[in-house]
Amino acid sequence: QHAIVWLRRDLRLGDHPALQAALDARLSPLFVYIDDPAGEGDWPLGAASRAWLRRSLQALDGDLRKRGSALLLRAGDSLTELRKLCAESGAAKVLWNRRYEPAVRKRDSEIKQTLLEQGIDARSFNGSLLFEPWTVQTKQDGPYRVFTPYWRQLEARWDSLPQAEPAPSRLPAAPAFASLPLDDVVPAPRPGWDAGFFQASAPGEQAALQRCREFLTRVGKYKEGRDLPAEDNTSRLSVHLAFGEISPRQIIAVAHELGLSYPSCAAFYRELGWREFSYHLMYHFPHSCEQDLTEQLRAMIWLPAKPDVLAAWQNGRTGIPIIDAAMRELWQTGIMHNRCRMIVASLLTKNLGYYWRHGADWFWDTLIDADLANNTQGWQWTAGTGADAAPYFRVFNPVSQGQRFDPDGAYIRRWLPELKSLDKKAIHAPWECNTHLNGYPDKPIVDLKASREAALQRYQHARRET
Ligand code: FAD
Repeated sequence: QHAIVWLRRDLRLGDHPALQAALDARLSPLFVYIDDPAGEGDWPLGAASRAWLRRSLQALDGDLRKRGSALLLRAGDSLTELRKLCAESGAAKVLWNRRYEPAVRKRDSEIKQTLLEQGIDARSFNGSLLFEPWTVQTKQDGPYRVFTPYWRQLEARWDSLPQAEPAPSRLPAAPAFASLPLDDVVPAPRPGWDAGFFQASAPGEQAALQRCREFLTRVGKYKEGRDLPAEDNTSRLSVHLAFGEISPRQIIAVAHELGLSYPSCAAFYRELGWREFSYHLMYHFPHSCEQDLTEQLRAMIWLPAKPDVLAAWQNGRTGIPIIDAAMRELWQTGIMHNRCRMIVASLLTKNLGYYWRHGADWFWDTLIDADLANNTQGWQWTAGTGADAAPYFRVFNPVSQGQRFDPDGAYIRRWLPELKSLDKKAIHAPWECNTHLNGYPDKPIVDLKASREAALQRYQHARRET
């Protein structure tokens, strides 16, 4: 007897409640991944994420084969494909781990309803969050809008977290039901523009666990070092978390294995808390993926985006080194350091005055760790439109941010070879010194001082008028 384990953003075998439920019921799991971009609403995976997905599916299939099973690949409408597979295999159970994106939630609940009506036992589980969004409530039984009290509640419940189940070492053999070739489902990018995506880490659960162990052994440097983009002080687990190659419970389990106490990981766990908070906000305020979460800037005058200016921001040609380095890091590696995400987002929404969706859409297509909850929250936080957003008057000055967090210019030099020869003073504001810039723009695309003043006026006006 089979149970279908419908894999989505949980491309792993450890801490996998849907798989565990199949094994607990003594059913033989049939693993299927269905490529169904139409089922993702307005947010089908972007190009960079799909490049990662391809390799992640390969890695998962490898892990399954080592255990005697295999991954079935299908494409098309999820419900249709699940029903077909139920008919082919005689499976009377379909199990999956939950997702929280608004369009996916709607689709999944329709699928569950239809399957149940047809006598198929459809069940979903929590495989990707520490706390389900509806279980964390304010004293008034509402959702949180402010991070600190939300985080206090999570910390107080930390010890009650369930343990992560290890991956099964053997699995029942997978019968030969039809499976599409990977090339037909997620073709390889041609030419291979994705090579830079796999240099820092490899896709798959094994690589994710290894990275997690390696990072946690030096987690002591996280608190002080997490803001320095030239250094490797953060976990770089975001892409693994986005695809569910690792779960937050597995991360905590690795910390336990290494004998790390809660306080030694507290600064890092707090960031996992921000991830939870992003999902909390997305669940309770589903409109926020498309529009402002709050009303506080309803009267804001966002400026019309000029295509050439937007393209200069996207391509790392603004003439502002820390911005351009970050945008090129994104283009080449599919990742951008958190500090730099805040700086480039501040330039776009504040100095340039463009609506945050322009940036969120670009990130969605170019990030390998694109995650609707985190991306929406990160952009809205910076733009000042989100819950618990940055104060509106915080306009990052990219020059002083560069001087503070990349004092030697090592990060800028890594991504902007044309500025390699500049010293650590000139490299943050090359337009101030008379020097040859090897084709790099000789002045910033926007006057940083004047645009800051103009932004403050627009924000003040919006707050008055809203
Ligand atoms: P670490 O510092 O090691 O943190 C560990 C984990 O905590 C991360 O992997 C991530 O899952 C979570 N986390 C860390 N910081 C945040 C945060 N500020 N908000 C929510 N979760 C966080 N993160 C994404 O995963 N996907 C996105 O699409 C995304 N878009 C962003 C857009 C903007 C404008 C901003 C400002 C931030 C965005 N972030 C996004 C959050 C953050 O930048 C990344 O999670 C982080 O840089 C990933 O690096 P890391 O894994 O080394 O993080």
